[in-house]
Amino acid sequence: MTDRHTTATVRGPADDGEVAAFWSSLGLPGAIDLHVHFMPERVLHKVWAFFDDADLPDGMRWPIAYRDDEAARIARLRDLGVRRFGALAYAHRPGMAVWLNDWLADFAARVPEALHCATFHAEPEADAYVADALEAGAQLCKVHLQVGGFDPRDPVLRPVWTRLADTGTPVIVHAGSGPQAGRHTGPDIFAEVLDAHPELVAVIAHMGLPEYDAFLDLALRHANVHLDTTMAFTEFTSRIAPYPPGLLPRLGEHADRVVLGSDFPNIPYPYAHQIDALARLGLGADWLRQVCWHNPARLVGR
Ligand SMILES: [Zn+2]
Repeated sequence: MTDRHTTATVRGPADDGEVAAFWSSLGLPGAIDLHVHFMPERVLHKVWAFFDDADLPDGMRWPIAYRDDEAARIARLRDLGVRRFGALAYAHRPGMAVWLNDWLADFAARVPEALHCATFHAEPEADAYVADALEAGAQLCKVHLQVGGFDPRDPVLRPVWTRLADTGTPVIVHAGSGPQAGRHTGPDIFAEVLDAHPELVAVIAHMGLPEYDAFLDLALRHANVHLDTTMAFTEFTSRIAPYPPGLLPRLGEHADRVVLGSDFPNIPYPYAHQIDALARLGLGADWLRQVCWHNPARLVGR
C-alpha cells in the first residue's frame, strides 16, 4: 500500500469536534504542534489588541477565535488531541527575554503538554541567558524578526546561533516578510545566518510567507532547515498570500522538512480549518503523519 493510493481520499476535520478523531484515522496518537502561543496574560491581551486593529487588505478582520482564559485554552488543545505543543513567546524589545523565559519555564513545568521554549533578542546578554535557558531544559527557541526588529546577523547573536546549532536546539524564526515586512525579514538576510551556521536546526515560521518559494529553496539547501505550516494554506491567508500551487510537488517530496504549526490561539478561524487545509493539499496520509507527528517529534527529541 503506497501513499499515492490514499492521496485523494484523506478527508480533513469539518470542525474542532472532529480533530481528535482525525489523528486517530491517520493512526496517530494525536498531534505535535510546534507553533502555539502562551505568554503572560497581559502580553497576550496586547497581542490580541494588535490583531483587533490589524491593518488588513480588503476590509479583512482578524477576530481571535480562542479568546479564552489560559485554563480553557489548555483544555481546548487537549480536546483537539494536541499531545505536545511549542509554547512560544517572543521578545519585542531588548531587556525582556529573561522575564519571558522565566515565565515560559514555569509554564512548561506546570503544563505537561508544553514544550519548554525560550526566546532572545539581539543584546549582549543573549548568549548567557540562552545558555541558562538550555541548562534549565529549554527544548526550542522562538524569535520574531519583524516584531523584534533586530538583525539576525548582529554579531552579538553569533555565539547564540552557534550554541543552538551545537546543541541541535530547534529555533522557530519568523523570517518571512508577511503579514508585515520588517527591516530584517526576507530570505536573503536569514540565508546569511544559515551560511554562517549550516548545522542550525531552524524552523521557518508560516512556510516563509509570503516568500514561500525562496524559503523552500533555502530549506532544501540546508539539511536541518524546516518550514512550519502556521496559518499557511488557510482561506484567510490565501486571500493575502496564496501558496503557489506549483510548489506543492516539491513540498510533497520533502515531507521530512515540514512541521505542524497553527498559531493557536491567535487565529481568525477554527483550529480544524488549519488541519483541513493541510488535508486538502492532497499530499496524502503519509505526508500528514510526518508533518503532524513524526517530524516535530524528531525535532524535539521524542
Ligand atoms: Zn506565531
